[in-house]
Amino acid sequence: MSEGKGYRGPKGTYDVYPGGREPHERPELWAFVESVARERFRRYNYQEMRLPVFEEAQLFIRSVGEASDIVRKEMFLFQDKAGRELALRPEGTAGAVRAYVEHNLFKQAQPLKLWYYGPMFRHERQQKGRYRQHTQLGVEVLGSSDPLVDVEVISLLYDLHQAIGVREEVVYLNNLGDMETRRAYVPELRAFLEENRSELDPDSVARLDANPLRTFDSKDPNTQSLLDEAPTIGEFLSEEASAHLGTVREGLETLGVPYEIDERLVRGLDYYTMTVFEAKSAALGAQDTVGAGGRYNGLISTLGGPDLGGIGFGTGVERILLAAASRDAAASTRAFFVTLTPEARMLAFGLAAALRAEGVSCDLDYADRSAKGQFKQADRVGADFAVILGEDELQDGVCKLRDMKSGEERTVSVSDGGKDLLRAVAN
Ligand code: ATP
Ligand code: MG
Repeated sequence: MSEGKGYRGPKGTYDVYPGGREPHERPELWAFVESVARERFRRYNYQEMRLPVFEEAQLFIRSVGEASDIVRKEMFLFQDKAGRELALRPEGTAGAVRAYVEHNLFKQAQPLKLWYYGPMFRHERQQKGRYRQHTQLGVEVLGSSDPLVDVEVISLLYDLHQAIGVREEVVYLNNLGDMETRRAYVPELRAFLEENRSELDPDSVARLDANPLRTFDSKDPNTQSLLDEAPTIGEFLSEEASAHLGTVREGLETLGVPYEIDERLVRGLDYYTMTVFEAKSAALGAQDTVGAGGRYNGLISTLGGPDLGGIGFGTGVERILLAAASRDAAASTRAFFVTLTPEARMLAFGLAAALRAEGVSCDLDYADRSAKGQFKQADRVGADFAVILGEDELQDGVCKLRDMKSGEERTVSVSDGGKDLLRAVAN
């Protein structure tokens, strides 16, 4: 044993390990989420992309925006040995669009429908559902501005959450308009906020010049109650933006996705245009947004690509698991070998290999336990069956198969390389 007090994981991180206490610490729940997600992405015809977990810091500053919480205070920044300014990725869209432009993916059949899965990093105060390393499942649909794509993306988010078991979920929807809408609305909003400057929290005052829309994101109760009186973007929507919103609503109604319009929903990232949405679960506490996203019709060209539209969502797996109904850990060991004589070990080992080759999960003792100790171990690993091999069994070419729940035992031949045993333990 080494000396000293031992180490703890860095602040804001967690581990996933057998027997983890919180849902997001349990490996079997991650495996479940991953398999559901892959299957959903297959059904909707999305292709996977894998991207680096760090990028040039400027990529995020440019796309997420100077005024955003992410860029102002949450990025993990560092320099490489050549002095390049890099950042651990705080979100997935900027990297996906960077790769789309870098590899000329706009020349492929459009829209390109992509999904990703992986860790994101934000230097935040740790709370339930808020970590410095969290994991997002996300999609990006690039190269189309069709409002039915918005409907597909929102319904995929909802469908994915529902398949995993998220409770009491509602999607909140807004339309931030195009540039025309913003040009009409933002001065009105700014004028209103300037008039009431003394009632705003310092963060909101700081954002007034850069992007007054962000005031809606404030968590300050005074600012929020002032905003009840503020002009709303809905009154300023251009004809095109209104029509877009109308089609998205009609689509969500057709698919039966429960949604509500929230005219104060602006989202924390600067690149959003037109449709924005957040999926919330009433089963969560303060961190109730399970997943969110929006359309970003200017981002591809901002990052050096053609003038094409895109839309995506990101959803945090930790919050999905917190918002999902609890699930029992499934017992995974089907059979545990109990050997009563040293000579039986190699036979048990061969039989275990034969069962494993046929897809049956099984295990045996690696701690030189007594018979009693081995039965106890079979119990602890949650085995459905104990396969008992003693001197008599060796002689007769059989094993005793004990049903660990009922305690019933029967004799099964093992002289055929394990075929009978396989039949007996298969469900
Ligand atoms: P919030 O308002 O809760 O800070 P956000 O607007 O910063 O959320 P997004 O940038 O939209 O969140 O990220 C998409 C999703 O990623 C969130 O809905 C959430 O599920 C998850 N997420 C974001 N930040 C964290 C975090 N620090 N810890 C855990 N999950 C996170
Ligand atoms: Mg945040």
